[in-house]
Amino acid sequence: MRSNDFLRPALVNNALKAPLLRLSALERVADPVEQATAVLSKYPLCDRCLGRLFAGLGRGLSNAERGRALKLSILMRIHAAALAGQAPGYAKEVLTNMGQTAEGLYEQLFGSRPERRACYICNDKLDEFLESTPEKVARAVREWGGTTFLVGASVDPEVVQREEKLKAEFKLALGESIKSEIKREVGKRAQALGLRVDFARPDVVVLVRFPSGDAEPQPRRLMISGVYRKLRRDLSLSPREPSLNPLTSRLLEMTQSSRVGIKGLVRDERGVRALGLGIPVTFLLGGSRVRSAPPEGTVIESEGASLEVKGDAAAVADEDLSRRVRVYRCVIYAEGASPAEVKLAAESLKGREARQKVMGRTVSGVVREAACNIVGDLVECLISLDEKLYVMELVSGRGSEPSLSGLLGKEATCVEADLLGVISLR
Ligand SMILES: [Zn+2]
Repeated sequence: MRSNDFLRPALVNNALKAPLLRLSALERVADPVEQATAVLSKYPLCDRCLGRLFAGLGRGLSNAERGRALKLSILMRIHAAALAGQAPGYAKEVLTNMGQTAEGLYEQLFGSRPERRACYICNDKLDEFLESTPEKVARAVREWGGTTFLVGASVDPEVVQREEKLKAEFKLALGESIKSEIKREVGKRAQALGLRVDFARPDVVVLVRFPSGDAEPQPRRLMISGVYRKLRRDLSLSPREPSLNPLTSRLLEMTQSSRVGIKGLVRDERGVRALGLGIPVTFLLGGSRVRSAPPEGTVIESEGASLEVKGDAAAVADEDLSRRVRVYRCVIYAEGASPAEVKLAAESLKGREARQKVMGRTVSGVVREAACNIVGDLVECLISLDEKLYVMELVSGRGSEPSLSGLLGKEATCVEADLLGVISLR
């Protein structure tokens, strides 16, 4: 029968001698079916990876639908041409590279099963990945006690490279990246499992890795800014080892965090209370399961230390430290000097530039204010000085020039000191 003639090997072989599709012509036409044919004449692609190269075409379609539609169009064109005895020369390659969709026609035209080829871009991993990963994302979000989430994607650079190379080679400008498809598809499917996507403030960000299929909840960083105060003299909060402190332990526990850092705290001297305006600081908490900072005005306390939550303290904690001053109240005693002499000498420090060598480091700064009252045998001074300077050393003279001891020629001691505030100079 005439209609079956094209099945005879000789006829098929003749048909395959038809000229190959000319790529230069495609550049002018930019017909998606012809472009897809050109791509498939060289690279095997799964439906999804083929469709993604044309993601900008058609609305409300998945890339898998786009890819399948393109493959079916090509398949029918080849079939029609073959029926007319004009199967194009690229038919064998294109049908092979289409995979399962074209198996039936290939067998009919060429009398054998096509060679099995994996998708050039995703190695046939993407469909399975999109099936199994959303469940892992949902599990991770629930494990972290969240209901809202956001998906981040990390794609093997070689996969991205192959996709980019292919787009460049065929000048395909309407494609979407595999990373963007993964984020969208996994997000959509995880939502179907009862979660809600939140782009602005997700409870948990889950990073999914392609092709491994790992889904890792990303530790979020929680910032709590406020004013730090301390009523006890025997405690101090170390900026380098902040976790060894009762207040910090309390914060870690409250926010279910695993790590903590502090910004804005230059030092918290042992023996010195921090009162009044306190020290503006920002605690940076890592791996927090609690997603938001306590409301403004909340006071978090532990063993005589406290943090009053204040959003605007963050700006101060960020300030250039050279622009901050510390205000201290110091009760001073100097053996062999009268309170009047001490007051006079202490007040003469006002406006002086001091150089100090403390713990091997040399710092310099200005004593901004020094005002004293005589209280019995003692002198109570309010001293404000650049934050880099140490008030105890300014009084005692250890490593400080000038110092109160130096000016008096007698040993002066700060018997009691309180920090009344850390203030920014505007
Ligand atoms: Zn693929």
